[in-house]
Amino acid sequence: MNILQGDKSPNSGENLAAYVKRIRLFLGLNQRELATIAAIHLQSLGKIERGLTAKLSSHSKAGLASALQVPVEYLEAVSRGTSIESVSKLKFCPSCWTPGNPADPLWMDVRANFCFICGGKLGDRCTHCQQTISSLKHRFCPFCGTSYKSVAFS
Ligand SMILES: [Zn+2]
Ligand SMILES: [Zn+2]
Repeated sequence: MNILQGDKSPNSGENLAAYVKRIRLFLGLNQRELATIAAIHLQSLGKIERGLTAKLSSHSKAGLASALQVPVEYLEAVSRGTSIESVSKLKFCPSCWTPGNPADPLWMDVRANFCFICGGKLGDRCTHCQQTISSLKHRFCPFCGTSYKSVAFS
């Protein structure tokens, strides 16, 4: 899934109810259609959109994310009330990271600047074109083709 979906990312301050409703309308679905696609009860969706459900079950979260075609992280961010910047900012150690693997949560901590394993500086963008890294499922920068693993982060 492409997570670079600018128009579907949560607006700052948007809560779960407003977010789900906005994306549903964006996709041109009514509540019944969305509930069917997401495989959740219509009543559950109604509760979510009325702001009565603050925390999604993992089943609803996965179903809604796939039905709304957004990353699960977006739903988690709006549920927690955190801004998407703090969840979408990937940082990793280019020395210790194994290509194809997700970044270690310790690297992703907003306060972390250095690798907890080797002490090296963490990178969050392609040194060649300066585009921030959107997904470590990619081994190469999708913008310029530079390998994330081999580049020396400065
Ligand atoms: Zn390291
Ligand atoms: Zn690049």
